[in-house]
Amino acid sequence: MEIQSPDRLVRLAVDLVNTRTRDPEQLNEPGDVRTFLLEHGESEPITLDEHDLAEVRAVRERIRPVFHTEPAAAARLLNELIEEYAVRPYLSDHDGSPWHLHVAKPGATWGQWLAATTALGLAGFAAGHGFAAIGTCAAVDCERVFVNAAERRPRRFCSPTCSSRTRVASYRARRSGEREA
Ligand SMILES: [Zn+2]
Repeated sequence: MEIQSPDRLVRLAVDLVNTRTRDPEQLNEPGDVRTFLLEHGESEPITLDEHDLAEVRAVRERIRPVFHTEPAAAARLLNELIEEYAVRPYLSDHDGSPWHLHVAKPGATWGQWLAATTALGLAGFAAGHGFAAIGTCAAVDCERVFVNAAERRPRRFCSPTCSSRTRVASYRARRSGEREA
């Protein structure tokens, strides 16, 4: 349980929220959270039980609104999470690992760790790029969230797929409007 690059924490936050969208829930059992953590650079041993699963899901729902509320409210949510879960960062090289920063309480559960790291990651990202760079996909049938570090190119969609799908749909809507006119 450690943090490395700030980018990794932002990716962790985005991917965590996107484990539940309109698509089927991806975190159905403790093993799913374990796989998620391994895929995001955490190393063994990772053990979780049903309580951890519930806690991680609850943290996910507290992070989600950060992506679609106005900046002052999003900042308040992040500050609350940081106050509740983060500690003063400290360097550690425990168990022979390279020096790294810890931002969660020693012995934190995976849910508490995710709350501290994703909140700090998003807070750092918002401070660097503005809350406008944190968003939810504008496609009507998509609830995926994203971050956009390319400041001069505002982004509305989570992916090129959603962008082109929406463009095609609005083109068709316009065409059918013209036919009826
Ligand atoms: Zn989308």
